[in-house]
Amino acid sequence: MPDHQLSIAIVGAGMGGLAAAATLRQVGIDVQVYEQAARFARIGAGIQMMPNSMKVLRGIGIEQRLREFSFAPYSHLNRVGDTGEVTRELPMPESLYNAPYLCMHRGDLHDALLATVPANSVHTAKKLVGLDQAKGHVTLTFADGSRTTADAVIGADGVHSTVRDLIIGRDEPVHKGRIAYRAVFPSALMNGKDIGHSRTKWWGTDRHIVIYYTTRARNEVYFVTSVPEPFEGLTRESWSATGDMSQLRAAYEDFHEEVRAVLAACPDCHKWAILEREPLPRWSNGRVALLGDACHPMTPYMAQGAATSIEDAAVLARCLQAVDGADVEGAFARYEAHRKPRTTVIQAISSANTWMREGSGDTSWLYGYDAWTAPLDEPAAHAAAA
Ligand code: FAD
Repeated sequence: MPDHQLSIAIVGAGMGGLAAAATLRQVGIDVQVYEQAARFARIGAGIQMMPNSMKVLRGIGIEQRLREFSFAPYSHLNRVGDTGEVTRELPMPESLYNAPYLCMHRGDLHDALLATVPANSVHTAKKLVGLDQAKGHVTLTFADGSRTTADAVIGADGVHSTVRDLIIGRDEPVHKGRIAYRAVFPSALMNGKDIGHSRTKWWGTDRHIVIYYTTRARNEVYFVTSVPEPFEGLTRESWSATGDMSQLRAAYEDFHEEVRAVLAACPDCHKWAILEREPLPRWSNGRVALLGDACHPMTPYMAQGAATSIEDAAVLARCLQAVDGADVEGAFARYEAHRKPRTTVIQAISSANTWMREGSGDTSWLYGYDAWTAPLDEPAAHAAAA
C-alpha cells in the first residue's frame, strides 16, 4: 500500500485529459493537468456526445449542464447525398441506451469539463518536452525549463502526442487524401429554413457531409464534411486553417437542395486534414500511460474520438482505484487490456467509414457500453472490424 495519496500528472487539457482529471479526482487521486496552450480558445465546431460517453459525463456530474443547452437529435439519419433517400434511421430515445444523445458546441463541452477541475490544478503554457522515470516517480520537463514530479503520468496530449513519442517512439500519421471542412453559424442565416430534428449524414459516392444543430434553441447550425482533396501543406491537424466556401459549395453542387441551402447560407469555414494512425503496440511504459487520441486517434466518421477518450477516463480511474494506488503499472496494463480491443475496432470502422450507412447492423455494443460498470477483466464490448 502507498504511504501517501497517489499523485498523477496529466499532459493535455483536451476532452480526454479533463475527463481523466475529473474521474481520477473522484477516486481520491491528486491530479495536476499541464496544457501547452497559454489559454483555451473556443474552436468553431460542433461535437456529438453519444450515450456511451454521456454515461461517463453523468458520472462526473455534468450531464444536467449539457442537457440545458445541447440539441437532442431525434435520430441518426442517413440519406443519399443527391436524392435524399433515407438509407438508415436510428431513433435515439434516451430509453434505448439509458442515456441521451446530445449535439453541442465543442467549446461548451470543454467549458463543462474544465469546470470539474479546480482552476489551480490546471497549468497552462506548459508544453511537455521530456519525461524521466526513476525510483517510482516520473519527472516532467516543460519547454519553459520548469520541472515537476508525479507518481505517474497520463499522456492525453492528442494525436501528435509528445508523451507517445517519448515512451513508444515516433511514427508518421497516415493521410488518405481527405479534408474535413467545418463551420458553426447562426441559424438565422438560413432564412427560416429548418435542417430537421435529426443529425443527418448525407452520403455521396466519395464524400459526405454531416449536419446538425449545436444548441437546444436550434440557433446554431453545424456541418462537417469529408471530401477528397490534396494535402496542400496541411501538415498537421489544425483547428485554425480556413477553407474556401466557393470551393466547398462546388464540391457539393450535386447534393440535395437541403445540403446546398446550408452551404449557401454559411459565410465561412475551417478545414482540417484527416489523419489516422495504426493502432499502437502498447499504451504504457512503466508509470506513464496514454489516453484518447494519443493512443487511438481515429477519423471523425463515427463521432467516437472524444467519446472513447472520455470512456478511457472512467476505466482508468476504476483500474487505479482497484489497486489503491499501489500497483500503478498493473492498473495501466488492465486498463489497456480492457480498452484496446474496443478502440482498435472503432478505429477500423471509422477508417472504413461504413458506420450506419445502411442496413440494420447492431449498434448496442457501441452505444450500450457503460465504462463505469463494464467488467474490467474482459475486453470492452466491441464488434467485428469493418
Ligand atoms: P485533444 O482534444 O486533441 O487534446 C489534447 C490536448 O493536449 C490539447 O489541448 C493540446 O494543446 C495538448 N497538448 C498537446 N501536446 C502537448 C504537450 N507537449 N504538452 C502539453 N499539452 C499538450 N469526437 C467525438 O466524440 N464526437 C464528434 O462529434 C467528433 N467530431 C469531430 C469532428 C472533427 C472535424 C474532428 C477533427 C474530430 C472530431 N472528433 C469527435 C474527435 C475528437 O475531437 C478527438 O478525438 C478528441 O478531441 C480527442 O481528445 P484528446 O483529449 O485525446 O485530445
